[in-house]
Amino acid sequence: MSERIMVIGAHAGDAENMAAATVLKHTRAGHAATIVHMTLGEAGHPTLAPQVYAEQRKKEVEESARLMGGQAIWLPYRDGELPVNDEVKFQVCDLIRQEKPTIILTHWKGSIHKDHVATHEIVRDAIFYAALPAIKRDLPAHRARGVYFPENWEDMDGWRADVYLDVSDVWEDYLNVLRSHEFTLAPRASAGVRGGVSSFRYFDYYNALGTTRGCLGGFTKAVALMMQPGAWVRKLEYLPGLEPGV
Ligand SMILES: [Zn+2]
Repeated sequence: MSERIMVIGAHAGDAENMAAATVLKHTRAGHAATIVHMTLGEAGHPTLAPQVYAEQRKKEVEESARLMGGQAIWLPYRDGELPVNDEVKFQVCDLIRQEKPTIILTHWKGSIHKDHVATHEIVRDAIFYAALPAIKRDLPAHRARGVYFPENWEDMDGWRADVYLDVSDVWEDYLNVLRSHEFTLAPRASAGVRGGVSSFRYFDYYNALGTTRGCLGGFTKAVALMMQPGAWVRKLEYLPGLEPGV
């Protein structure tokens, strides 16, 4: 049976940068994917007006979702102004009940960007609301089996690598997802040419990170994920390797 992976990013492009390789790995294995953008990240262009850039962002997230074999959803919140309240949390709760993901990926809370911190908090509570049958919504409760926080250069305060995932076989496709967003391209691009939206070298960073994590994980290319605090707790009768009769 096909399962579903859901990624929830603060701005268009966040989900792709931090999780597109993980999504590709699992859609190639036959699972479904839902990519949620809390905002379109429409305020980040140095020359385009937000309403104009928003239209470009919609095309970019549609294209990257197509490349990942998933479906893109964006919520109507403004870049930089994502609120943290029950209205947003129940909106995400309803999306979780609708999409019924097995695994959810979102931002770690130790971020330099307020929208990323807000997304972490919203998703944490939405997962709780979605799983609680006592909370009556249009759809029945749904409990995701796992929650992970992928590596994102803006969310590194207190983040740690708990899981190394082998993404060697989808790496070139991952790079194509990155290329489908203008802002990830090299800041040195000259005016009038695609690129130059941000001063941060997104493409170089995430491409090099795949190599670095691959070295540490023992794969050609890897991504690292953080698990929920406490998720490593094991309930054992004997330590692994010392079971009776081994
Ligand atoms: Zn962001």
